[in-house]
Amino acid sequence: MNAAELAPYACDPAHSRGRRFAELAAPTRSDFQRDRDRIVHSTAFRRLVYKTQVFLNHEGDLFRTRLTHSLEVAQLGRSIARALGLNEDLVEAIALAHDLGHTPFGHAGQDTLNECMAQHGGFEHNLQSLRVVDHLEERYPAFDGLNLTFETREGVLKHCSLKNAEGIEAQEPGGVARRFLNRTQPSLEAQLCNLADAIAYNAHDIDDGVRSGLITMAQLQSVELFERYRVQALAEHPDLAQPQRARRLLYETIRRMLSEQVYDVIATTRENLQREAPINADEARLAGPLVAFSAEMKAFAIPLKQFLFSQLYRHPQVMETTGHAQNVVFDLYKAYVQAPGEMPQDYAHRADTHRAVADYIAGMTDRFASREHERLTGRKWPA
Ligand code: MG
Repeated sequence: MNAAELAPYACDPAHSRGRRFAELAAPTRSDFQRDRDRIVHSTAFRRLVYKTQVFLNHEGDLFRTRLTHSLEVAQLGRSIARALGLNEDLVEAIALAHDLGHTPFGHAGQDTLNECMAQHGGFEHNLQSLRVVDHLEERYPAFDGLNLTFETREGVLKHCSLKNAEGIEAQEPGGVARRFLNRTQPSLEAQLCNLADAIAYNAHDIDDGVRSGLITMAQLQSVELFERYRVQALAEHPDLAQPQRARRLLYETIRRMLSEQVYDVIATTRENLQREAPINADEARLAGPLVAFSAEMKAFAIPLKQFLFSQLYRHPQVMETTGHAQNVVFDLYKAYVQAPGEMPQDYAHRADTHRAVADYIAGMTDRFASREHERLTGRKWPA
């Protein structure tokens, strides 16, 4: 991106806080473009295609995976960034990396790994995303990880417990964890990725939920944020009421909902930026959250989240799968801790066995985890 197009409060690669290991600039790409390219070429990125978002990978070919989710977050993020004069390349890099630390089997895997690791430092997927880009990728002769810029790493570490923040701060004083200790915001680009993440999953979980048959259009009519756009779509296109056009009605409703949320973020953030008038990216970090929904849109989004939680994420069929997935992760953890030699050499020989096991399991795709589980326990799931 041309620096002239960037707003003064955007992150400018020319003023990056840099990489942990100094490198020469690339001849044709900015540092944030280079970060994005490193992420796209990483092993962890390719694994996202076989990792669960909500529905397990084997349940159907059309459901979102972590990869398609990350692409949707990047798309939404970039289009909002462009409207606000923020750095699209940085937004894209953060969006594509934000879920790299997710375990197989979605939140079920992560919760179980966190329980297993309770006495050994715990497991947080955001922190794991940072571990992937800082340590676990092995691609360069001179350093571990991808050696990304501060700004991309800052965005990747979306949440972090105070205890873990203190640990990172000790290793990297004034680095990516400092903001959790002094309670400031990350860059506007990082704030934007958080919102784009929520906009993306609320919309695609409706789509996947209806596709799976676990939730219905009739149920969704009780959710105001959805219903107002469904009514609007039907008023403009009465033919969408025909049963054979139900999918088009669903898509048109979701499309309107997405667009309105995007426009709302752009308008609200513009107002916030005008009011606070940060003169550079660092001032924006100190100003409190600026990339935001309006109070009205925020209030509308809550019942939708609650609906998805109770009707989809806690649906008996999803819960049954979750239970199996938790057993798989728990069994794998136990098996590798008892016999680290069952892991590849570079994990088996690490000094901290528990962290090595957590890193190894977290890196697995759903189907690799299932295969390993069958190999180690003789039990086959999914059948
Ligand atoms: Mg996400």
